[in-house]
Amino acid sequence: MKRSTIWILTIVMAIALLGLLAMQIVYLEKMVGMRNSQFNETVKRSLYSVSTMLEQNETKFFLDQDLAEAEQMYSGISQNSFGFGFGESNDPPIDTTLNTEDPASLRPANRNTLKDLNDSYQRKQEILRGQFLYQKSLLYEVILTILNHSSDRPIQERADSLTVDSYLRSELEFNGLSLPFEFAIVNKTSGVVYKTNGYSPMSQEDVYKVLLFPNDPKSKQNTLNVTFPNKSDYIFSSVKFLVPSLAFTFLLLGVFLYTITVAFRQKKLSEIKNDFINNMTHEFKTPISSISIAAQMLNDDSVRKSPEMLKHVSGVINDETKRLRFQVEKVLQLSLFDRKNATMRLEEEDANANIYSVINTFKLKVEKYGGHINANLDAEDPIINVDRMHFTNVIFNLLDNAVKYRREDVAPELSVTTVNPDEDHIQITVEDNGIGMKREDLKKIFEKFYRVSTGNRHDVKGFGLGLAYVHKMIDLFGGTIRAESEVNRGSKFIITLPLYK
Ligand code: ADP
Repeated sequence: MKRSTIWILTIVMAIALLGLLAMQIVYLEKMVGMRNSQFNETVKRSLYSVSTMLEQNETKFFLDQDLAEAEQMYSGISQNSFGFGFGESNDPPIDTTLNTEDPASLRPANRNTLKDLNDSYQRKQEILRGQFLYQKSLLYEVILTILNHSSDRPIQERADSLTVDSYLRSELEFNGLSLPFEFAIVNKTSGVVYKTNGYSPMSQEDVYKVLLFPNDPKSKQNTLNVTFPNKSDYIFSSVKFLVPSLAFTFLLLGVFLYTITVAFRQKKLSEIKNDFINNMTHEFKTPISSISIAAQMLNDDSVRKSPEMLKHVSGVINDETKRLRFQVEKVLQLSLFDRKNATMRLEEEDANANIYSVINTFKLKVEKYGGHINANLDAEDPIINVDRMHFTNVIFNLLDNAVKYRREDVAPELSVTTVNPDEDHIQITVEDNGIGMKREDLKKIFEKFYRVSTGNRHDVKGFGLGLAYVHKMIDLFGGTIRAESEVNRGSKFIITLPLYK
């Protein structure tokens, strides 16, 4: 797959997934908003009802009080002396039925009865009028008392906590909200009059308020404040069903990101592999062509007759074969990375002696470029538990890099030291005065196939495997490796290994 195709797929998928996610979030927000305003409406309606019920309660209280007073006042006095009573009339029931079919009933002999009937009606009407006037005056009196004196009663009596609690509970339940609440009665002048134990609003936005007894004088007005500690749970419970769908979308997003990362990694790997094959071909081509030329020269009689030329040609063949073997060895090292456990033959090895022999083989190479290699192998009892062949390769790789990445203008000065940082470890340092590396490259040089891209010495071919191999081996030996470097000043590789005890 082309890199551009992966990018297009990524963008399309990202837009689709982010769109889906955005829509779900908007939907969630809308649902929460709706549920919230529905909740607010219900609470407001319930609070308004509670306020009205408290007012009705107070009216009833004054009515009862006035009735009781009136009953007390008038209890000793006969109702008839006022022309009206509080109870039922004691008059005998009036027969109002006229027998129109019986003409005798309309005769003058019955005139007296008719007159009685009229009188009785009039008396009844007067009693009713009297009762009406009494009720009216009683109501007026109650209204006046409410208007003038009700606000004088302490609010604790007018709206006591038990009544408010039961009204609130029944109204909220009636409106379909049965969740715990806390409330307080708040006075304009003196603050909280009383409150329930759990009433402690975090912010004023959480408080639902209703004015109690709105006809009270402004300065004496009280409000009923209500909070719902579990409101957010209640709101959230209504949108809970959306959570799994959001979780699935995030899961999809995660899988998508993983897939894209894998696709890009695979792409990079295939590019690296291509580079690797190109490099390898180049590395093998040079010695092969040198050997081939040498072989052709051997076919030449004049060369065969001259012992000096013969020596030179055989030297070339020898050098180039060595180079070829070294390259093959490097490619073989590659297979180590893919195996979980490389086959190791750990044995006791004298680090100083081993390093010394590698330095010896390298000396000539460094001197060829007019440089030196200094060895200060001062570590005491330098016995380590390593695979000899791999340990030699490690030191060889480091020295090879130190020469490969030398500066053109300065003769290579290499230094190899061993010391004991503590009694259980040995520290091996390989230092050069080469081209050095930038800080960001330093972090990656131990990665497989990594080569410093800007290195102007990349006419020097390599596979980007040497340091990855070194790192892996040191790891398997139970040690650590780190690098320090400065561009155009040189690099330093520091290995710490446990001593064999
Ligand atoms: P290779 O040498 O085959 O490219 P390595 O894994 O040995 O791969 O090194 C990785 C990279 O680290 C090299 O490409 C080089 O740029 C950088 N590097 C390694 N050793 C040195 C050194 N001594 N001085 C400067 N750069 C180095």
